[in-house]
Amino acid sequence: MNHITLLDQNTINKIAAGEVVERPAAVVKELVENSIDAKANVITVEIKEGGISFIRITDNGTGIEKSEIPIAFKRHSTSKIRSVEDLITVSSLGFRGEALASIAAVSQIELVTKTNGSLTGSRYLIEGGEEKSLEEIGCPEGTTFLMRNLFYNTPARRKFLKSSMTEASYISDLVERMAVSHPNISFKFLNNNQLKLHTSGNGQMKEVIYHIYGREIASQLLPVFFEDGFLKISGFIGKPIISRGNRNYMNYFINGRYIKSSVINKAIEEAYKPYTMAHRYPFTCLLFEIESERIDVNVHPTKMEVRFTHQEELFRILYDVLSECLRQRELIPEIQLGL
Ligand code: ADP
Ligand code: MG
Repeated sequence: MNHITLLDQNTINKIAAGEVVERPAAVVKELVENSIDAKANVITVEIKEGGISFIRITDNGTGIEKSEIPIAFKRHSTSKIRSVEDLITVSSLGFRGEALASIAAVSQIELVTKTNGSLTGSRYLIEGGEEKSLEEIGCPEGTTFLMRNLFYNTPARRKFLKSSMTEASYISDLVERMAVSHPNISFKFLNNNQLKLHTSGNGQMKEVIYHIYGREIASQLLPVFFEDGFLKISGFIGKPIISRGNRNYMNYFINGRYIKSSVINKAIEEAYKPYTMAHRYPFTCLLFEIESERIDVNVHPTKMEVRFTHQEELFRILYDVLSECLRQRELIPEIQLGL
């Protein structure tokens, strides 16, 4: 230890990459979120070897202008916010401008993209944070992002990855959650060239639930809808009979983002208490739309946590809405409709 020096950008990116891209599923999450932010309604996710050697995301979104590609791969470069004030009203999934820089620092990337109406598209190669080429190319509108060999230049990180099968299962869970929370987007997921999921994008969440969780669960759902003031809740909850021994099927999304929240967990579990045994957890697939002023998603780089300004109110409303929904179910005689 002697002289203090400022680290160069590439080193900073490699260090920071550890926060944003822990594993292949995190890469898929960032790239799919970018596709959603780019207003795509058809998104294809292809992976090989659990996403460690190959991840390709293709979307039909807005694309990126050739002149803006290199800057998009710089740290803290984003088209989604301009100032700290914008953080209060941010509605896109991304905004930190870190994902592309981080992913590019620890893998080999080929980007092919074309914006609406432009005559030609662009092809950009960047490896380990080093630009290789940027050229014009004919391609369809939208963006294809191909990532190869995650952590090829940071072997210490690569060692922490699990087996291809386990990494693939994380990605599969993630794509399923993305699909169920965005029924308006048609998702395709291929693992080692095998089609694993294909949703229609027709807006029907129940149909996506059927695809992912099967007929048994899809036939035991209660619709939920609430809208008042700052909050809208929609989606489905499972009848108590399909409760499980873990929280894996307790999913909810806030403004399009999959998150974990102890307040929401508690409200759901309290509402189900009269109907289920201890340590049984319901199936839920709920979309919350909350005024962005009332939440803070800027807590952690992976944005898995949010803070609410009105926790007690949110708890009370959700508890009441779900309790009412479950009570009404008791009034309806159980007829096997043979769905
Ligand atoms: P952030 O999403 O936080 O803005 P990223 O590093 O993920 O940061 O992306 C940087 C920028 O690149 C985005 O703000 C966006 O303008 C552009 N971009 C990334 N992916 C896509 C895509 N699939 N389609 C269109 N633009 C994209
Ligand atoms: Mg992003």
